[in-house]
Amino acid sequence: MVYFIGAGPGAKDLITVRGKELLEKADVVIYAGSLVNEDLLEYCKENVEIHNSAKMTLEEVLAVMKKAEHDKKITVRLHTGDPCLYGAVREQMDELDKLGILYKSVPGVSSFCGAAASLNLEYTLPDVSQTVIITRLEGRTAVPEKEKLTLLAQHKASLVLFLSSGMTEKVQEVLLDAGIPSETPTALVYKATWEDEKRVICTLGSLAQSAKENKISKTALIIVGDVVSHSNYSRSKLYDPSFTTEFRKGSSMENSNVLE
Ligand code: SAH
Repeated sequence: MVYFIGAGPGAKDLITVRGKELLEKADVVIYAGSLVNEDLLEYCKENVEIHNSAKMTLEEVLAVMKKAEHDKKITVRLHTGDPCLYGAVREQMDELDKLGILYKSVPGVSSFCGAAASLNLEYTLPDVSQTVIITRLEGRTAVPEKEKLTLLAQHKASLVLFLSSGMTEKVQEVLLDAGIPSETPTALVYKATWEDEKRVICTLGSLAQSAKENKISKTALIIVGDVVSHSNYSRSKLYDPSFTTEFRKGSSMENSNVLE
């Protein structure tokens, strides 16, 4: 059996309980060494066989999985954050299907959630944004035409850019050209939840300069939108005294004002 496990954004204790328990049991671990915190490997048992996939091709990863399966071993494939985002997991699963090797996935805390926690940020503030767009700027890997950043920017939703912190000048230029105001609050979060995490709050107009000043060009997220400054939002309906839900009967508007 192969387990695809989300390692979380970085901090050793941000893997799920299920993920940690499987890591403790694993005979073979293949971890994404470019981004997974190696401290997580301390959870592994002593005689575990460890491979760093940063130095491997898909074929080499599969060869390790195939051999482990043949030897009736438990394999953990450890991906950063949650494997479902830019994890290149589907291509591994398809090959495992062909080989008749069973696998299961265990979710993880994605870095965009880790970054939000570090900033105490809510992506979906009422009356500010109710949508989060997760995307990337095209680089050596293309982005489908219909998902070009300039098109997505038209929504003015909270925007989280993965894999783009080495191209902040381009991000800034594309978003400004798309009509996002230069003063739009923007955050750069480098290695969210790691010990050497860096958080930089700036504006879209100063993004490239801020990245340069703080020497951030990789392992970072760019978050653009008014949610970053968390001002001018409305109170939630869910916790409004006058609002009735399945679990709580609302009082009259007059009563609700007493609390304000
Ligand atoms: N599956 C991962 C994303 C992998 S793509 C997840 O769910 O988070 C790799 C990109 O993720 C990096 O280029 C960076 O943009 C982002 N990233 C991963 N870990 C990060 C962290 N701890 N802090 C900030 N960005 C991170």
